[in-house]
Amino acid sequence: MNTPLPHSPLDYFPIKNDCLLVGGVPLTEFAARVGSTPFYAYERRLISERIQHLRTHLPSEIYIHYALKANPMPALAGHIAPLVDGLDVASLGELRVALDTGTPPESISFAGPGKSDAELAASLAAGITINMESEGEMERIAHLAEKQGRRPRVAVRVNPNFELKTSGMKMAGGPKPFGVDAERVPAMLARINTLDLDFQGFHIFSGSQNLRAEAIIEAQERTFTLALELARSAPTPVRLLNIGGGFGIPYFPGNKPLDLRPIADNLAASLPKLQRQIPEAEVTLELGRYLVGEAGIYVCEIIDRKISRGHVFLITNGGLHHHLAASGNFGQVIRKNYPVVVGNRIQGSTREIASVVGPLCTPLDLLADRMELAQAEAGDLIVVFQSGAYGRSASPLGFLSHPVPAEVLV
Ligand SMILES: *Cc1c(COP(=O)(O)O)cnc(C)c1O
Repeated sequence: MNTPLPHSPLDYFPIKNDCLLVGGVPLTEFAARVGSTPFYAYERRLISERIQHLRTHLPSEIYIHYALKANPMPALAGHIAPLVDGLDVASLGELRVALDTGTPPESISFAGPGKSDAELAASLAAGITINMESEGEMERIAHLAEKQGRRPRVAVRVNPNFELKTSGMKMAGGPKPFGVDAERVPAMLARINTLDLDFQGFHIFSGSQNLRAEAIIEAQERTFTLALELARSAPTPVRLLNIGGGFGIPYFPGNKPLDLRPIADNLAASLPKLQRQIPEAEVTLELGRYLVGEAGIYVCEIIDRKISRGHVFLITNGGLHHHLAASGNFGQVIRKNYPVVVGNRIQGSTREIASVVGPLCTPLDLLADRMELAQAEAGDLIVVFQSGAYGRSASPLGFLSHPVPAEVLV
């Protein structure tokens, strides 16, 4: 089943009688079942299908991890955990969610600059792998481990000397708070040996939200070269090689879904060499938004329809405080509209150009800027697609003290 991914969110969420179906149920009924708007809804089926799509294409030797920060909803994590090979966490809160899923500690890793002593101590006690972000953090881990009488599982997060090109968010190359500069890693590996830490391997994450297969392939190739070079200084065989992810999803008009095939072909070609040189290494992809982003929608309700100097504004009970990314304020350089529809009248009888805004007293509170939509009125439901990742948990929920949105997994 070598099928490419669909291009439009409406290929994921079917329509019946001009109304979006969520979990097979018309949105209006679904909203009644949730009991209040706004809310986020995530479909289990779409998450499972996405992971199956990866398994179908990628070489079977590749491990797939889910990066919980994309969406840490406990029920969603519980659904994903048995479908993937491990979970990556970035805080004590996420660690608790990960452990609650029943994932074995040896399949959980913790990355993030600025881990507190409490977070490190809990990670040691749980027996997960800590991706060390600095020499200072290594010394603190060794100190805490001695106090606890444990031998911690550690990996070195490397700040590579390259970055994932045309990435949505640059997180590697040049001076960075993430990871240890590649040129300093050999000295750190020597120190790991004297500190008697249980060395697992390397974590090399070079960027996020990329839709260009060639860019991802290039970063993976450079990651392999760097890992093999560093492996020569490793105190014990490399058992873990986390090569990051960076797989993007199409948010904006003109974006095309990532083509997995060339990435899979290149991995299949590169793995034999890697397996000869570091035969014990589990080569791992860590993916966040690619697994969950397209499986989620954000739904809010129109409170008022108003016309200001000829321009239609649909004023909703949801907005930037619930969905910062869709408002364009989560790292975007130029604001673009997420895919938005009127969920209970997708085509409608008349179309119009309208802006969808929230209730906040700031012009930043914009969910759709001058988009063509079905003509809508108070009580209609606005749907923002591509909202399964970096939605609720990446938003300033306290801003203006409105109620927080519900979250449901269906
Ligand atoms: C945020 C993050 C991810 C997930 O990124 P996505 O773009 O959601 O796939 C993976 N690894 C690390 C280290 C991260 O910080």
